[in-house]
Amino acid sequence: MPLVNQADEPLAAEIIAVGSELLTPFRLDTNSLYLTGELNQLGIAVRRKSVVGDDQERLTAELWAALSRSPLVFVTGGLGPTADDLTRKAAAGATGAALRRDPQLEAGLRAWFSRRGAVLSENNLRQAELLQGAEVLPNANGTAPGQWWERDGRILILLPGPPHELEAMFTAAVRPRLAGRWQGQAWRHVRLLLADIPESQADAIAAPLYTAVPEVETTILAARPGEIELHLRARGAAAGPEGALDRLSRQLAGAFGERLVSPESDSLEAAVIEALRRRGETLATAESCTGGLLGARLTAVPGASTVYLGGAITYANDIKQSLLHVSSSSLKNHGAVSAAVAGEMARGAQHRFLADWSLAITGIAGPSGGSAEKPVGLVSMACAGLNEETVVVERRFQGGRDRVRAYAAAVALNLLRLRLLKCADQAANSAAARTES
Ligand code: AMP
Ligand code: MG
Repeated sequence: MPLVNQADEPLAAEIIAVGSELLTPFRLDTNSLYLTGELNQLGIAVRRKSVVGDDQERLTAELWAALSRSPLVFVTGGLGPTADDLTRKAAAGATGAALRRDPQLEAGLRAWFSRRGAVLSENNLRQAELLQGAEVLPNANGTAPGQWWERDGRILILLPGPPHELEAMFTAAVRPRLAGRWQGQAWRHVRLLLADIPESQADAIAAPLYTAVPEVETTILAARPGEIELHLRARGAAAGPEGALDRLSRQLAGAFGERLVSPESDSLEAAVIEALRRRGETLATAESCTGGLLGARLTAVPGASTVYLGGAITYANDIKQSLLHVSSSSLKNHGAVSAAVAGEMARGAQHRFLADWSLAITGIAGPSGGSAEKPVGLVSMACAGLNEETVVVERRFQGGRDRVRAYAAAVALNLLRLRLLKCADQAANSAAARTES
């Protein structure tokens, strides 16, 4: 039976993640994220998801409610052999389908254990229990098979918890079944990354544009300190070439101008590295309060070695002096956290590493070490360039130690990104002027 497509609405799915560990601070339900991405590709929307502990009564109630709400229900986890693996029993309770030991599954399990020379206990045979009427979804990477059960246009899909088992099973058995039954329109997704702009300001610029285009779902989220993401998604004609999605992306790009990092680059660091690579120029860093965060972000980009020479973590004042030639008078008169010292650190790194460009950061990450004159969160970031003026910005970041450090790294990267953009503009302008004359 094909799944019903009412008025071109996306098919609504629901996901239940099972496992008491997922209700602790130590384990995250990532299976539902994977499933949501895959389902969206098929034009299926996830309308609701929940996490339920290993408790048969709660799980049965949740499953019953999900099946009464949604035509497509996924359960992940709880298919193992132990007493806390209750998904099969709860599914039987919620659907009214009997649970039967399947002789073929039993034979398969016995063979699996004997191949490995392992003893099959009575517990393990629970994994051979099948909801009456269900199809088996083979597990290529483990012993717990999945199940596909349906009745009256409702589909219940049971998948194992371990992500590699679930993903392989989805790819091999679930995706083809769904794709054969549901001709949905896939979503297309555009991510716009904005640098160094408060979320409220970004929304004030973006909202008048995106609220006028309801066929594109737009969300704005604070990604990392100093970085905001706009997520746009659409299906059907709106997602097609020259559709509403492309038009809105272009309008937003125009409105944000140089604050926009992507879609050309995935990240601030990738944008910096790509711009330097195009120019054939190199970069060095000098970091105090960020202790290598800048270097770590830069070296996380594949191919960073073509432009990034290295960096110095100069935490102590005498190291700032000996490695970077920061002057004792600047340290004495302005202090280690100052625009003057940040500028000298940047110039020092640029000389020391024989780099075309350098970035330096010095600040008070907290929680202690602040004063009335120099509060926690105060950071100076400098960018020096060969034959270029050294630019220093001083900012007061809000938040704890982690946020202050992350902000500083992002703002420093953006400082260089903007300078490289300006250089590219100047080059383009002078090329245009040459063509005119
Ligand atoms: P289970 O199917 O309950 O035997 O799950 C086995 C293991 O898979 C768990 O101990 C988790 O480490 C992992 N797991 C279960 N559910 C999830 C989930 N929703 N997201 C990520 N990992 C999971
Ligand atoms: Mg479990």
